[in-house]
This record gives sequence, structure tokens and C-alpha cells, in this order.
Amino acid sequence: MISIYQPSLGKEELSAIEDVFKSNWLGKGPKTDEFIKLFANKLTTSVHHGVAFVMGNPNNLLTVSSCTEALFQAIDLYVQPEDEVILPSVSYIGAGNAIVAKGAIPVWCDVDKHTLNPSVEDIEKHITKKTKAVIVLHFSGVPCDIKRITELCSHHNIKLIEDNANSPFSRVDSKSTGTFGDLGLWSFDSMKQLVMGDGGMIYCKDIDDKSRLDKMTYMGLESKSGFSNIVDNKWWEFDISSPSRRSITNDIQAAIGIEQLKKIDTQIVKRKLIHDTYNKELKNIEWLQVPKDLPSNVTSSYYMYHIQTISKHDRDGLAKYLRDKGIYTTFRYYPLHWVKFFNSSHIKLPNTEYAANHTLCIPLHQGLSQEDVQLIITAIQEFK
Ligand SMILES: *Cc1c(COP(=O)(O)O)cnc(C)c1O
Repeated sequence: MISIYQPSLGKEELSAIEDVFKSNWLGKGPKTDEFIKLFANKLTTSVHHGVAFVMGNPNNLLTVSSCTEALFQAIDLYVQPEDEVILPSVSYIGAGNAIVAKGAIPVWCDVDKHTLNPSVEDIEKHITKKTKAVIVLHFSGVPCDIKRITELCSHHNIKLIEDNANSPFSRVDSKSTGTFGDLGLWSFDSMKQLVMGDGGMIYCKDIDDKSRLDKMTYMGLESKSGFSNIVDNKWWEFDISSPSRRSITNDIQAAIGIEQLKKIDTQIVKRKLIHDTYNKELKNIEWLQVPKDLPSNVTSSYYMYHIQTISKHDRDGLAKYLRDKGIYTTFRYYPLHWVKFFNSSHIKLPNTEYAANHTLCIPLHQGLSQEDVQLIITAIQEFK
């Protein structure tokens, strides 16, 4: 079976893990600090005069146990029960869970029919006095209209959270996605582009948010400096600022992440090549549509490749046909307003419904050989 996602891990990661074992320090420590620093170097957080840019600052970043946990932390940081949070229905389930678990209200917005990204207009329509935060997703790695969404949110004094799990190194005008909003969230789970088993990253625009999250991801413990001031000879005494979970990463994960960071640029180039080959070979099939070319000011991370069948009947048929040929496909993300638990099925989101019935994500990862790609293309061409 050709899988839809696949990590690329090898002897470099294994030997990095070995070094951590030898150091006898497995917990969060020097490797995590190093990973954060190297990760910051890969981000560009501001653009001056449209050309020059500023590297990410490690002081704005913290690692977390997963991106799901990052979503829960983000909601805990900004949202109170009864507040409204706007997010596209085409979102990751953990985003909906975090809002509902808080006792807040998810307000589902529609997406672009073809890109599956939320638009400024979709979001603006749903803003009320109770709106506290907006969560956006850059679907498949292609940035949404994040500059205008950022302006809209700051105009209304609404917190903006970017779920950057699909777009780890995407950019708009040379500025990294994940650094436009108040918080940007990354995932390093085993199906993502940069893999560390499990893990995530949070970028905080505001350094005070970063210090609060440092505590909230570690039992709410007050910072070391604070407590060594209060307690000089009884170092086992402590206080907490909030009753929080333990959501940190360890140096084994960080050691894997450091090696993965060295490979990521080459992997994105490889994914882009496959993406471009699909676009070229599939665009003339009359019963389907391929993604449009990107505007020249944005770059994608090429996390997913999706096609859309003109007829909804064809989508399900094609998925089965390809699976029988050993090619696994799927649809991401099943609309959350259709999830029974959220009790929102009365809401009408026409573009989301179109997307959910016509879209199929086909394999895209750096482990695909040229033969695999050709096999997938031929299978799709021969479907009818
Ligand atoms: C994978 C994913 C997450 C969750 O990441 P974990 O690290 O597995 O918790 C969140 N959002 C999106 C869009 C994802 O694809």
C-alpha cells in the first residue's frame, strides 16, 4: 500500500538519541533549548520594506507535548466559559474539543470551496461582542489570507490563534505563517513534516503570554527565579499560579527534532516537485480539478495535495478504486459542524459541504519514488 503520509527517519536521528542516552539527561534540557534556537532560526517574524526580514527569537517559543495540547493551552490562555471562538468547520477536531471543554462556544465559519481556507469575509460575518478568539488553519500548507485576518482581529481586539500544523515553514511576503497571530501552533507528531514522535511548538507574539504559558505547561509552578527569591533555605517549597497540567517535551524528542530540521528544506523541495508533477499531469482530466497555482508572494510547505472531483459520486468511487490498487487516500478535515457531539448540523456552510463531498487528499510525502508518483497518476487517469 502506498501511504498518504510517511516520516523519514534514519541513522542520524538514532545516533542523536544515543547521545541523549549517554548524557544521562533525558528530560527537558539542553537539547530542547538547542532545538528551539534552531527552530527560531528557520522562522522569519517580520518584514521590513518588503525585503529584509528578522529571524525568529527563541524567547518567543516554547515546546509542548502536542499541538492538541497547544490548542487547549491557547484556549485556556485567552478564553473564558461562554465566550465565542470563531473557527472554520474544516478544522482539526482538537480545536473544537478545546473550545467546548472550556465551556466556550465554537462558531463555525465557512471556507473557500477550493482552497479550504477561511476568508476574512467568512470570519467577519460571525464576529459578535462575545467573540474572544479566532482560530485559523492554513489548509494543506497554503497560507490563508492571514494579513487581512490579522488586521481584522486586531481591529476588533480579538485574539488570533494560527493552527500552523499544516504549514510549518510556509510564508507570506517572506514572513512565516504562525507568527502573524497572537499565537502560532506547530505539530511534530508522526504524520507531520517535521517528526519527533509527538510534540509541538508555540510561538507567542507577546513575551508575557510566553511566560504565562511556561507556567501553564508545567503544573503552574512559579518560575525558578521567583521562588528562589522567596525560599532561600527550604528549596522544596513552592507556589503555583494556576492548577495546570504537565505538557512539556523531553530531550529525546528534541534530539530527533534537531536532525529533522536539517532535512526539512530538502524534503519540502521534494514535496513541491511531486505537487507540481501532479498538477501538470492531472490538470487536463475533465472530471476533476487540481489546486490553483500559488500567488507569487506566498510559499507553501506542501503538506497535503488535494484534488476535487466535479461530481460528488466520483470522489467516493475514486477513493475506493485507488485503495483497491494499493493507493491510500483520505479527506481532511471532516467538517466539525457535522460531528454529532457538537450539535451543529443545522448550520449551513455551503462551501464546506462542497469541499467535504468533492475533495480527496492523495499521497504526498518525500518517501514517494518517481514510480509511485507515476503509478498514482496513471491510476487516476484510468479511473474513467
Ligand atoms: C495534526 C494536527 C494537529 C494536532 O497535532 P498533534 O501534535 O498530533 O496533537 C492540529 N491541527 C492540525 C491541523 C493537524 O493536522
